[in-house]
Amino acid sequence: MTDQQPIYILRESTQRTKGRGAQGNNIYAAKAVADAVRSTLGPKGMDKMLVDSMGDVVITNDGATILKEIDVAHPAAKMIIEVAKTQEAEVGDGTTTSVVLAGELLKRAEDLIDDLHPTIITQGYRLAQIKASEILAAMAMPIKVGDQDVLTRIARTSMASKGAAAQCELLGRIVVEAATLIAEPGATGEAVVDKQWIKLEKKVGGNVGETELVRGVVLSKERVNSRMPERVIDARVALLGAAIEIKKTEVEAKIEITKPEQMQAFLDEEEKTLRRLVQAIEDSGATVVFAQKGIDDLAQHFLAKAGIFAVKSVSEKDMKHLSRATGARLVSNLKELTKDDLGQAGLVEQRKVGDDEVTFVTECKAPKSVTIIVRGGTEHVVDEVERTLDDAIGVVTTALKEGKYVAGAGAPEVEVALGLRRYASSVGGREQLAIEAFADAVEIIPRTLAENAGLDAINVLVDLRSAHEKGQKTAGINLDSGKVENMLDAHVIEPLRVKTQALASATEVATMILRIDDVIAAKASGAPPGGPDGGDF
Ligand code: ADP
Ligand code: MG
Repeated sequence: MTDQQPIYILRESTQRTKGRGAQGNNIYAAKAVADAVRSTLGPKGMDKMLVDSMGDVVITNDGATILKEIDVAHPAAKMIIEVAKTQEAEVGDGTTTSVVLAGELLKRAEDLIDDLHPTIITQGYRLAQIKASEILAAMAMPIKVGDQDVLTRIARTSMASKGAAAQCELLGRIVVEAATLIAEPGATGEAVVDKQWIKLEKKVGGNVGETELVRGVVLSKERVNSRMPERVIDARVALLGAAIEIKKTEVEAKIEITKPEQMQAFLDEEEKTLRRLVQAIEDSGATVVFAQKGIDDLAQHFLAKAGIFAVKSVSEKDMKHLSRATGARLVSNLKELTKDDLGQAGLVEQRKVGDDEVTFVTECKAPKSVTIIVRGGTEHVVDEVERTLDDAIGVVTTALKEGKYVAGAGAPEVEVALGLRRYASSVGGREQLAIEAFADAVEIIPRTLAENAGLDAINVLVDLRSAHEKGQKTAGINLDSGKVENMLDAHVIEPLRVKTQALASATEVATMILRIDDVIAAKASGAPPGGPDGGDF
């Protein structure tokens, strides 16, 4: 049948790329994303200035932030950005590492793709990743319970590459103390640390060195009435879910007042109700009240007269923080408030921080919720310190949970590469080539650390390999001296989980992209179709 008409199953506007073309485009786009963040890796990495369409500027060194802010159109580039998000969500650090790794895994695969089918490459990569996790686990060291020194070093390593590195000693101590305070023993003896209970409160002004840990909660709110005390010592704290107001009637009611006495009686009645509500608070013994809803003006006056410190319109999230910090129970019906519902705080006070009036609920006995007040001269500084703290909180909580750490500065990657090369020959066959490519790819981390510090990457890698061949598992690169050293002595250490997760998610996305041999794109609304131009920025 020579004259058969071709059958079209796709719309005319659909763009389709197949086979090597599709793979090539996807790999190109993924590599472009990795290249965009490569120069920020490590303590000597550079910063990026990002300007959004509104002209707002963000200056950062944080891989996750960079990738969040840039607007990419290519689908494979988006997949790479997902890796960074996963890494950020799972362990809070190692985002640049995971993206750079994914890019390099794809680059090495590209070199192999003429000789090896993508299925063989992905199979080899998976085997390599499993083996790499074993190698990492074998070189990991345990964190003893309460070992603040190790935790502080882990925090400092994660902060070393950030803008606030100068204050990493102070910030490290703050983060470790915060994480230790909120940690609770789990059912099987492991530590349960939920980082949502470390509240970061940004206040522009002062300098980074004035960043402080508050053993309790800080609210960007003032007390409702200036006649209330400014500070309450040994506070008994009530948390109210209900408003301290007269309930409005559900149906529209009309009150007809014909005589002045009736008006007075009506107002008296209102006043009496409010008095009763305030009396219920007084009777409970509370000296401080946080209300999720409003507080009537007259009630404010009665509260002030009773010497009670009150704040209104507190967010639900802050109410939860207050409850965990003070031990108070949220009460929704004021009449049910008793002494047992109250929480404790050594000091509640209103103070000025920068230009803002702020309420401190502090000196709680065993606060399971704490606040870090983040200070810095400008908004850009405060924002970057916040991101730095966020990473540090991530690594410290991860380290506390898993209880294992490894040396950093390229040591784990070189150890993994060495182990994988040995493993590859034992696997043999065509997968061997893929496992060897994986080993080469992993070394992108020490290479990039060295390059970003202006060192000769080849020399550094040769020295690192030879140290590891001699069994020095913790040998890494000191970026100041350019020498290979034991990173445990240099105090550059990271949680094991940051490394295993980075390898796992990088492998996952790289193999996923490699397996795609057909891209069928509907005419997109605005987004350019795949291709070298679509992946670049
Ligand atoms: P990521 O987003 O992947 O965490 P970073 O820019 O934070 O990227 O860099 C992390 C890398 O820098 C890790 O490999 C870590 O071991 C390394 N590193 C941190 N501090 C030092 C140091 N003082 N010397 C050498 N390498 C370091
Ligand atoms: Mg980091």
